[in-house]
Amino acid sequence: MGIKVAKFGGSSVADGIQLRKIEQIIKSDPDRRYIVVSAPGKRFDKDNKITDLLFMCKAQADHNIPYEQLFQVITDRYSAIAFTLGVQVDLESHYEEIRQKMSAGCSEDYIASRGEYLSAILVAAFLGFDFVDTKDLIVFDHKGRLLAEETNKRLSEELAKHEYAVIPGFYGSYADIGEIKVLSRGGSDVTGSLVARAVKAEIYENWTDVSGLLMADPRIIKDPMPIEYISYIELRELSYMGASVLHEEAVFPVRLANIPINIRNTNAPEDPGTIITTENTYNNNKVLSGIAGKKPFTVISIYKNMMNKEIGFVRRALAVLEDQEINFDHIPTGIDSLSVVIESKELEDKLDDVLASLEQSLRPDEITVTEDIAMIAVVGLGLARTIGVAARITAALADEGINIRMLNQGTNEINVIIGVEAPDFERAIRAIYNAFV
Ligand code: ASP
Repeated sequence: MGIKVAKFGGSSVADGIQLRKIEQIIKSDPDRRYIVVSAPGKRFDKDNKITDLLFMCKAQADHNIPYEQLFQVITDRYSAIAFTLGVQVDLESHYEEIRQKMSAGCSEDYIASRGEYLSAILVAAFLGFDFVDTKDLIVFDHKGRLLAEETNKRLSEELAKHEYAVIPGFYGSYADIGEIKVLSRGGSDVTGSLVARAVKAEIYENWTDVSGLLMADPRIIKDPMPIEYISYIELRELSYMGASVLHEEAVFPVRLANIPINIRNTNAPEDPGTIITTENTYNNNKVLSGIAGKKPFTVISIYKNMMNKEIGFVRRALAVLEDQEINFDHIPTGIDSLSVVIESKELEDKLDDVLASLEQSLRPDEITVTEDIAMIAVVGLGLARTIGVAARITAALADEGINIRMLNQGTNEINVIIGVEAPDFERAIRAIYNAFV
């Protein structure tokens, strides 16, 4: 059979009880050969994640505040897990090494990476697997960009030497200086994906604390339908609009290698979870894969008579945003008008400067700013082939008395984006969900 890579997130390695569940999962399928682990996460709502505590340690050290007690809280968590499981492993020598590096003034990335490092050492000893450090296997250039091909080569060469291994998530190192570099938060998902690509896995299992993706946010829709299959491209649309189960960058390595991702629940291993794949696996009578949304957005609308004849108008408008390093999301246009939809947090205290620069560079007749807009993405590979989707959405919103501020079908025809006023956000999602599901 093929190789399976299983990545376990923070809640799955939070304590001894969770690790016993992992043991069951791993032992029930010998194809699960490469295990990627996060640092221990929260055991209960108000608990701390080890990674957060490690960042705090470094901040305290930098401010000359004693951090020894805090570090003790961290090491106690690992020691307690080892004790509960009866694992024979010399954690003390690792703690001592970290202490020494910290007092010598180590980097923030080094200290943050120790969460996954200790976690992998412990889990490897518990499962009786090899520990394979990623420090010199996942490599970045001096600007911190992943060297994907070099990483793939190093990982596959090293992992070929180990039949069963536990691998720490979240970090690698700069190829030139060899110093540790962490990925962005939640980056163990990316490690799992890189490992899956390197060992040519049959599947990349991402074990977390939910049974896969849901068709809508359960805080808005009561008991939304689970998503059994979804394509990478749909997932990208949904996660961009706020549905998050997986680190954004985790998709690319496996997608490249055509390896499906299976989101699974460590606490309910019998649930099939969601399979994310390149194939068009949607079933024919399902138009919609999911609904997601974000708020607040700000819409800057620019009006100018004969705008459509003015060459370079859109370029100059967007150059203003580029100069201010502002990301925009959508640019709906009319004959003599152009709107730019921007996440409000992007604008923060830059709005006045942006408006002044737009005035200067475009000499428009009018500029209006609409704040507090919510954007909703209705996503599904079935949308392209189905007549009347937009009609169903607009009818559902009209029945609810919701005013549509914007409506746009994506060029790839797998999404319809709707802008509504932020207070109508939840009601709009419910109306659309009920119209389709
Ligand atoms: N431990 C890291 C974090 O909390 C990475 C991860 O868990 O994926 O962000």
